[in-house]
Amino acid sequence: MVQSPHEPEAPQDERGELLSFVQALRAAVEWQSVTGATGLPRDPDAKRRLSEAADEPAPARPMSPEPAAAPQPAPPARAAQPREAPVSAALPVLQVAAGASLETLAEDVARCRACVLCERRKQTVFSRGTGKSGLCFVGEGPGADEDLQGAPFVGAAGQLLDKMIAAMGFDRDDVYVANIVKCRPPDNRKPSAEEMAACVPYLHRQLELVAPSVIVALGATALEGLLGKTGGITRHRGKFSLYRGKIAVMPTFHPAYLLRQPSAKREVWSDLQEVLRHMGRPVKGAQ
Ligand code: URA
Ligand code: SF4
Repeated sequence: MVQSPHEPEAPQDERGELLSFVQALRAAVEWQSVTGATGLPRDPDAKRRLSEAADEPAPARPMSPEPAAAPQPAPPARAAQPREAPVSAALPVLQVAAGASLETLAEDVARCRACVLCERRKQTVFSRGTGKSGLCFVGEGPGADEDLQGAPFVGAAGQLLDKMIAAMGFDRDDVYVANIVKCRPPDNRKPSAEEMAACVPYLHRQLELVAPSVIVALGATALEGLLGKTGGITRHRGKFSLYRGKIAVMPTFHPAYLLRQPSAKREVWSDLQEVLRHMGRPVKGAQ
């Protein structure tokens, strides 16, 4: 029987809808409250002024501290257009079948023994989300929770990522999320250059099949694996580059870094607002 949402016999549906709306709203408010973008402007003119300001070139931002990175020189002025970047520096050692679908690719990954990370994994971690929003996040590699559950970003850093996604106005399941390496590095160490080179062909094929319009590179390892850019995330974050000459990549801080350094959420939120602008989406909480 087809039920109108207003008929009394559908209270479960209405409650479910209300619940997911409230959850999405709460996630957005939780995230925005830590970015400084709290609520709506009270001054009726402020909104217009803010949207005008958003069209102007962004002022230089102070750099935020970064663990394990030497002090960086001031970043060059923001480029108006995404710049061409070298395709991954890593030499693919795997031959990923060009015709493979995401399903067969995930099966290949589940059987993969191309690097030493296969030895201590519980299971491989391929992806989550459909990517139908056009947005994709790339992280470094699975941690303990991901190794246990078989999905990327399901631990503490993943919960923060989910808040970022909700605050941007996307459904969690519409955003594609994957990592540079598909098996957990022991003790959560950074994957080695060999491990990244062994695994990144899978990601390249995933991105070909999902064809997102924007990729957010979470942290230095993601940026290095995707674009071969080294030198730290602080230096590159906030500036678009091009992946394979066509897909915009926005580098930003990894959510695990934000757990240790919550003040850097402000920079991340500003980077995500750039992504929303690039996608022609409403920019939430524009400052
Ligand atoms: N950190 C990552 O880079 N990826 C995950 O999947 C989880 C944590
Ligand atoms: Fe294969 Fe990647 Fe796992 Fe290494 S990390 S074994 S290349 S799936």
